[in-house]
Amino acid sequence: MDQNECSYSGPYIKNQPSRGSELRIILVGKTGTGKSATGNSILGKQAFVSQLCAQAFTKTCSESRGSRGEREMVIIDTPDIFSEKGHSDLYTEVQRCYLLSAPGPHVLLLVTQLGRFTTQDQQAAQRVKEIFGEDAMKHTIVLFTHKEDLDGGSLMDYIYDSENKALGKLVAACGGRACGFNNRAKGSDQDDQVKELMDLIEGLMMEKRGDHYTNELYSLATGSECGPEQSEERLKDFTGSLIKYMEIQRRRTTMAKENCLKRALMKILPCILICIWLFVRLLILIFCILLRICNFFYCLFCSMCNLFGSLLPIILRKLMIIPRKTIGVECKAPR
Ligand code: GDP
Ligand code: MG
Repeated sequence: MDQNECSYSGPYIKNQPSRGSELRIILVGKTGTGKSATGNSILGKQAFVSQLCAQAFTKTCSESRGSRGEREMVIIDTPDIFSEKGHSDLYTEVQRCYLLSAPGPHVLLLVTQLGRFTTQDQQAAQRVKEIFGEDAMKHTIVLFTHKEDLDGGSLMDYIYDSENKALGKLVAACGGRACGFNNRAKGSDQDDQVKELMDLIEGLMMEKRGDHYTNELYSLATGSECGPEQSEERLKDFTGSLIKYMEIQRRRTTMAKENCLKRALMKILPCILICIWLFVRLLILIFCILLRICNFFYCLFCSMCNLFGSLLPIILRKLMIIPRKTIGVECKAPR
């Protein structure tokens, strides 16, 4: 295990190795999805401790180096800093992550388990945006572990045919970049999946013309001074800036959601108005029909009354004749 062999012992270390041509990858996402295992698969060695554990096993950010072909790679594994409850030492760990990936990552690998994209994964993706900024999504690839569960099926079919629309949205927000990994694969299967990921990364690098991602916090996290006192001061500075930065990102997301809601409302508003108009017309129509029916029955009732009124004397006269005839018959009867 060389989990900590290249990781910095504190947040401020001066002599970072030359970072010219290296490819910097940060593993992000919910704990237990297989971030450490994915890092090991990419590097082809047991660089990070990967273990099935009820609680987060990875406690601190760490980096490990390796190469693939001509490419020097630095992979930064992260602890539980993307969950709702967060890491007890969140700001120090985030700063460590910034330091290890300075001057900025080329790729963020958002790791999620195939078939288990839960609200916690959505929260983790949201937290990635808060910590690194919304634009970090432009350098993000969604990596699905437990690829073996696909049983040879297509990953894209799984993503876009899934009833979980949030998954499709997330992959779309990452420019449709997604790939599957079976971290238990061996030999050529292992090689093939790493090659597939590297091709995806190369495509992204070409798209970005080799540029890595960066934001204002990177310049703040990396500084030349590294004495313990300055370190303390700069950790405070960084923490303050990070809190503000995360707040701004949160507000941006809320505003984006509100705008999205407004736009959706504006789109459906004409439909709602038409529906209301049709509904009112229908009510008026029903009211008119009911009025006519009432009117008809009223007229019918009146005519019946009239008819009965005109027939009543005739009926009465007829009724009077019958007793008279009976009396007449009785009088004529022989004694
Ligand atoms: P982390 O907390 O995100 O770093 O997750 P780990 O790398 O520690 O992985 C958690 C557990 O999932 C470990 O037991 C891994 O062996 C297992 N695991 C990770 N990826 C895969 C995978 O692709 N397939 C299978 N079957 N297990 C995996
Ligand atoms: Mg881990």
